[in-house]
Amino acid sequence: MKFWRRNLFHLALAVVGLWGWFGAAYSQEGAAAPKRAKNVILMISDGAGYNSWLAAEYYHGRHGREIYQGEGWQHVACTTFPLNKSSKPKKSGLQDEYVVYDPAKAWNAEAGYQYLKSTATDSAAAGTALAIGIKTYNNAINWSDNDQPLIGKTLPEIARALGKSAGVVTSVQWSHATPATLGGAHNVSRNNYPEIAREMLRADYLQVIMGTGHPYYDDDGHKRTDDPTDKDCRYVGGLEEWKSLVSGNHPGGWTLIQTKEEFARLTQGDTPAKVVGTAQVATTLQQSRGGALGLVKEAILKSQPFEVPMNENVPSLEMMTRAALNILDSDPDGFFLMVEGGAVDWANHANQEARMIEEQTDFVAAVRAVRDWVESHSSWDETLVILTADHDCGLPWGPESNVQSFQPLVDNGVGKMPGLAYNHSGHSNMLVPVYAKGAGADALRQLVRGKDEQAGKVWGFSGEYIDNTDIFQLIRLAMQGNSPQ
Ligand SMILES: [Zn+2]
Repeated sequence: MKFWRRNLFHLALAVVGLWGWFGAAYSQEGAAAPKRAKNVILMISDGAGYNSWLAAEYYHGRHGREIYQGEGWQHVACTTFPLNKSSKPKKSGLQDEYVVYDPAKAWNAEAGYQYLKSTATDSAAAGTALAIGIKTYNNAINWSDNDQPLIGKTLPEIARALGKSAGVVTSVQWSHATPATLGGAHNVSRNNYPEIAREMLRADYLQVIMGTGHPYYDDDGHKRTDDPTDKDCRYVGGLEEWKSLVSGNHPGGWTLIQTKEEFARLTQGDTPAKVVGTAQVATTLQQSRGGALGLVKEAILKSQPFEVPMNENVPSLEMMTRAALNILDSDPDGFFLMVEGGAVDWANHANQEARMIEEQTDFVAAVRAVRDWVESHSSWDETLVILTADHDCGLPWGPESNVQSFQPLVDNGVGKMPGLAYNHSGHSNMLVPVYAKGAGADALRQLVRGKDEQAGKVWGFSGEYIDNTDIFQLIRLAMQGNSPQ
């Protein structure tokens, strides 16, 4: 069977399986309605394959004890491959069979890295799969391989149709591929930042947008201009759009916040209805810092996590997440929130293992903030939390993994960098983890498509995997319950 047919067949089975599952739950509880998720929080550590999560666990001495390894959390792996490797619509709509994840090829010691390197997705195709459940070409922002916008069915648009609020939070520019796709933008190319930002600011389904891309600041949070050009404003919609936000009269009704203090203030108490937070830094909250300190690339590569002083004028991803939750939880119908640890990917691209640990640490701190919010302001009965990555990046493996393929990372103890070496500066097609807890999380196991014995052995789990499009299905069904689309 061709992949797409197999895929459709599997999807049909999965949907029937889920309906059956919900039906069974329904009949067992008599008149009780199936459990719906009032709130869904999808947290994506961009570019963090299993070994990035593992490295941070080793560094903090929390391996096996991290939040997502605790009671009630489901764990499977996930495939992330795109429809094809084209950077623009191919107009075939057909799955390129070569890029479909195959455990036998992936773990082949001779060919493994090469196969994994040559079949990887980018964040736009992966984000589209997560946001709307459709595989597409790399660079697509909710855009089909047949060159059409995929309108009306992204997670924030579905949330809006159910009367819910929606938001996106990231540690990189807020018009970047992951917040763009999960924020329900539609564009033929992820590189059209001003257009994407303007669509996000005009979408009636977003109430929170937070990230970086500030036109006035550099990567160290130092002001470089008071008089930005249109190009300086490209990540926030261009100069006119930025002026409109600053004036407080943007047609979208946004309240713009910029300082760390403004982010902090929104973590509690009353909030404006719609907030766009643009932290005072250029590209990433922290990962790209160091240039103004005179640190050259080599010094950053040799530094230990948290050794180089942090940018002090920006919030953490954790603080942004707490602010976003406090804004969105005013909606009695609930919300959909996407939180992205966007710069884990940037650190892995640059093979900066210490920065990767820092970024994953902030991501896990944001997970902790979400857990605390669920347990103090909501409950696991009404909120679904899913943690995953959009793809692996850098192929970090053990210290001699360049000669010994897939050598495991070495745990050097608390506060010590694990033994790790990079084997790539780009993305890979390796499986990534999925952790889920709360309303509807049990359905994860209904979506399993295959088993990767080697992955199970290396990372200590069942080896069962789903596909990134299944995460969309899980969230859609959790939000909609058994109501028709
Ligand atoms: Zn990347």
